[in-house]
Amino acid sequence: MVDQVAGLAERIAAARDLVFLTGAGISTESGIPDFRGPDGTWTKFNAEDFTFQKFLTRHDTRVMTWQRFRDNPAHDAQPNAAHRAIAELEQLGKVDRVVTQNIDGLHQLAGSSASRVIEIHGTMRWVACLDCNKRYPAAEILERVRAGMEVPQCDDCGGWLKSATISFGQPMPAAAMAEAVAAAQRCDLFIVVGSSLVVYPAADLPVQAVRSGARLAILNATDTTLDRYAEVILNGQAGAILPAVVAKVREALS
Ligand code: NAD
Ligand code: ZN
Repeated sequence: MVDQVAGLAERIAAARDLVFLTGAGISTESGIPDFRGPDGTWTKFNAEDFTFQKFLTRHDTRVMTWQRFRDNPAHDAQPNAAHRAIAELEQLGKVDRVVTQNIDGLHQLAGSSASRVIEIHGTMRWVACLDCNKRYPAAEILERVRAGMEVPQCDDCGGWLKSATISFGQPMPAAAMAEAVAAAQRCDLFIVVGSSLVVYPAADLPVQAVRSGARLAILNATDTTLDRYAEVILNGQAGAILPAVVAKVREALS
């Protein structure tokens, strides 16, 4: 493991253009459960109850979705040492983009520049009208839900409001996805942190990076589907490992 930490630090120090891909695993140490781990969300909820089509067509699904959003512990979560390590690397001039599957906004709270964070599954910090796309800060709409409104509607057009996150069956944000692909294709080092790499199209980004000539490193608690493509594999907790890597990058750059 020590060799792998040093190996990753060397590659970061030498990188011309570094892109991160982060998943739910980077936020578990902030108290937000992942989907597929042992305490993951899918051990408690059924994914098929929360599809976009059901949200559009069924009142009970809309009510359930808003209750779940209201009670999501991630609203109060704080960034952890792994988010901060990535923000610190940006300060060192090392980070081009952080592509994230997470909706929790913790990279920006840790200090990563919003302009460098690409949220390919949207964000829970905002709520959007499904008809006219008007956006509202999530806190503002959650106040209405906490006051008893079951399914909030748009002030302008009366359309259904939903958190600005991508539900199953909902189209991916095309611009964010195109930006993520471009970043993967131009980088020379691509680092995955805390993703099982089974959700597409996110899981295709490391493959695109490797095909375009980048080195791949994967930091995850467990095996991933793309380990065979990686030059460096670190198995463990991101909040312990990434700060150790960044400390070594600092040494190498000083
Ligand atoms: P996933 O649940 O499929 O995989 C998470 C991976 O992280 C697992 O392989 C697990 O072993 C690993 N992991 C857990 N804790 C870790 C830690 N401390 N350090 C290192 N690795 C750790 O998550 P995914 O690949 O991101 O895909 C699931 C989907 O879930 C994504 O689309 C994402 O939008 C969504 N999601 C987001 C959040 C969030 O915003 N925080 C939370 C849950 C799910
Ligand atoms: Zn509207």
